[in-house]
Order: sequence, then C-alpha cells, then structure tokens
Amino acid sequence: MSAAAVVQGQPGAWEPVIGLEVHVELDTATKMFCGCAVTKGDAPNMHTCPVCLAHPGALPVVNQRAVEYATRIALALNCTVRPRNVFHRKNYFYPDLPKAYQISQFDEPLAVDGWFEYSSGDEKLRCRVNRVHMEEDAAKLVHAGGEAGRIAGSEYSVVDFNRGGTPLIEIVSEPDIRSPAAARDFLQQLRDLVIELGVSECNMEEGQVRWDANISVRPAGSADLGTRTELKNMNSFRYLQQALESELPRQVEVLEAGGRIDQETLHFDPAAGTTTPLRSKEEAHDYRYFPEPDLVPLVMDPAWVEEVRAGLPELPGARIARFTEQYGLSRADAVVLGGAGALARFYEEVVARGVDAKLAANWTMGEYLAHLNAAGLEPGHGHVTPERLAGLVRLVAEGTVSTSVAKDVFAKMIAERAEPAAIVETHGLGQISDGAKLEAVVADVVAANPAQVEQYRGGKPQVIGFLVGQVMKATGGRANPKLVNELLRKTLDA
Ligand SMILES: [Zn+2]
Repeated sequence: MSAAAVVQGQPGAWEPVIGLEVHVELDTATKMFCGCAVTKGDAPNMHTCPVCLAHPGALPVVNQRAVEYATRIALALNCTVRPRNVFHRKNYFYPDLPKAYQISQFDEPLAVDGWFEYSSGDEKLRCRVNRVHMEEDAAKLVHAGGEAGRIAGSEYSVVDFNRGGTPLIEIVSEPDIRSPAAARDFLQQLRDLVIELGVSECNMEEGQVRWDANISVRPAGSADLGTRTELKNMNSFRYLQQALESELPRQVEVLEAGGRIDQETLHFDPAAGTTTPLRSKEEAHDYRYFPEPDLVPLVMDPAWVEEVRAGLPELPGARIARFTEQYGLSRADAVVLGGAGALARFYEEVVARGVDAKLAANWTMGEYLAHLNAAGLEPGHGHVTPERLAGLVRLVAEGTVSTSVAKDVFAKMIAERAEPAAIVETHGLGQISDGAKLEAVVADVVAANPAQVEQYRGGKPQVIGFLVGQVMKATGGRANPKLVNELLRKTLDA
C-alpha cells in the first residue's frame, strides 16, 4: 500500500500504528447542560450561570440539539447508536474546570463500532471508529506575560468561562492508520465531514476541532500494537504530520538499539521539528468515573434516531463515488472536488451550465483553487462565479481561446471582475481563424526564415513545427493552429 509508510530502519521494516482521538465543539445555540449562549469572540465571562460555574445545588439539563448533532456525527461515521447511554463524572482538578469534574461518558457512550472511509492519494482507506461520546468543554485558560500564550514562562493565568460547558464530541478511532500522511488525510476529511453535517464550523484557530494522536511502531506484519506515546491537543494538520514523521523514526531507533519505548506524552516543537517528553504515564491518572447522579440515563428512541439518519446530507464518501461515475472523474480528482461541500457545490453549478465535466474539473481544481488559496477565499466567494467559470470553459471547449490564453482571461476575470466573453472581446484575445489575416503572418514568417523553408523543401517536413511556432509567437498564441498548419503547407508546397 502506497499510503502505508514503512519506517526506515534495518531490514524487517517497521510499521506505524496510529490512532486518533478527535474533539469537536458543536455549534449549538446554548451550552451542553445550561442555557448560556455558545459564542465566539465575546468579552470574557459574559456567558456564565450557576450551572456552568458549578455553584452548589445547580442542576444540569441535557441539550437536546447537542444530542441530535452528536447523533448525526455518530451515524455519519457508521456507528451503532446505543439505545441507552449514561453520563459519567470524570474527576480531576484543574483551574479551567470549576466543578473539579467534567461531565463525560464512560462505559455507556452514545455510539460505538463505526468506520470512516477516507482517501489518501488514489487510495481508499478505512479506519474503524471505536466510539463517539458526548461531553462538555472546559473553560479557557489565558496565560499572560509569557511568549506565544504558553504556560511555560508566563507570569499569571486568567480563566474565561465562556467556553466552559460548550458541547463537545469525542471521536475515538482504532489504531488503523499506517502513515503520517494518512493521519493528516483522515483528519482533514473528517473535518470536512463534520462541517458538511452542519454541526460545527470546525474553526481551527478557535480550537473548535483538536486531536490527540497515539503512536507506536511494530515489526511489519505483527499484530502487536507496541508501547505508544501520545501527542496531545493539536490543531494543525501540518504539525501533526511533522510530529509523526519525527516520532516514528525516533521509536524505531530506540527499539533497534535494544531500548524500550516509555509510555509518555510528548510535546512537538515545530521550530526544531522534534518531540520531547512532556509528562509520563498518562494512564496513571485515575479519574474515578462514576455515573452523574444529577442526570438520568439517556434513552434513545429508535424512531428518532432513524429520523436523524434520514436527515443526513449526501456525505463526502458517497459524493466522491458519485463524481467518479456521473462525471467520469478519476478518484483523486473526485476526492479534491467532492471531498468538501462548498467546492463540490461550486463544481456542480459549473457543470450544470452544460459544459464538459472533465474540462470543468481541470479548471476548478487548477486556476480556481489556486485563486481561492491565493486570495484566502472560501469556494463560492469572490468574483469568479460558476456562471463565469463555465463561460470560460465553454470558450476553451469551442476553441475560441487556447488554454494559455484562457489562463490570461481567468486572471483578468479576477482583476476586472468581468465576464470572460467580454474580456476576450475587449482585449482582442479570441483565436484568429480569419484566413486572410493569417495568410499575411504566414507570408512574413516564411520570408523571415529562409533556412528553415529550404530544409522543409529539402525533405525535412518536421521543420514545419518550428514555423507554426513562429506564427503562434507572432500572434500572441491566438492563431488557430490547425489553420496555420494548412496555410503553411499550402505556401511551402506551392
Ligand atoms: Zn451556564
């Protein structure tokens, strides 16, 4: 498998074993167990109440919309939604946790035994999903006076309780991921899926989605998992991949030297590109889980679960498969265009205007995506509308403009915010198919290149390629190449 990187080492190579735990904050109107608003960017501590500040005697109430959103995620990940699930208290002390416990789920979670299908390059991969459970987010600690907001070196910390109690979903994968690149693809595509479900914007900067990775290596083909290390609380795809690319060879080196991997939590330093131990024996924590006495078990009505299932949108996996069939795209192209909803909708709106699907795919993935990246735009925003891109694709398909001229037209579509046909007209960019006009250029080129003309007439017909090139150059790439060929032959063979 190309996506399964074999870690370099002595012969008898090692196989990476990677599992991910992904946290997603849900975009519900209110918090998980109280009526406080879930917001972003408001002044600190504006959205608090006795429940989320853990005043004595305050009682939690489950947010039904959060259960619905969590169920959407669970069903989209092909999990079995358990008929009965229970909230537990996960006990630990931390300044961002006023109750000194987090309400989470333990041995009776929302959903179990699913799988997520994702793509890495041309490969279709499947990762089993162990469970999806519901919990509440902690408040946010702000470390002041240090560098980059890190606790190390800071002078003091303050707490913003606005985030405390925000509905949080944890998705736990089985350790089925076999390469750093696949881990990155898994996360990016999982994020796309959650956004598609309409349950979270998954804003990375806000930390709305973040993950832990468990990493170990084993001799290729072995069924053991090996002792794992953990990377905690990451929210950059690139750093995750880099951290894995650094950690996997480190483990191989230790093992090949006859050493042992310590089970520990690692910190990844992006500047140095290395991992360093943060703390050891995460498992040594004892959270003393027990059922939350203030909440009754949640009984899931099967009819309601089916209602939620019926309301799911077309999911990326299904759409990618449809794109390969309906539009004849390669799997790799279908993954790019069909993986995320906004770009998929844009592409389908272009195709709906009756242009060639493959050509439209090339332009959407090529110039259009590059434009979005350069301008920092989301698909569907900006001045390049589906209508305009379809117009350009049509001009290319009809031979009105060559591909290279079309790229120029595309750039002008952004700069001048205009229709492609109008740009071609205004700037005189259309292909020259006027025989009389071209004959004059051909005559000039023939006159200016006597040596090549002689070679052609002396039995080297391939020299015509050079002469065609000269005509194209003289016309700024706008001459109709077929017509140029005909005219040249007519002149030279005369
Ligand atoms: Zn509250």
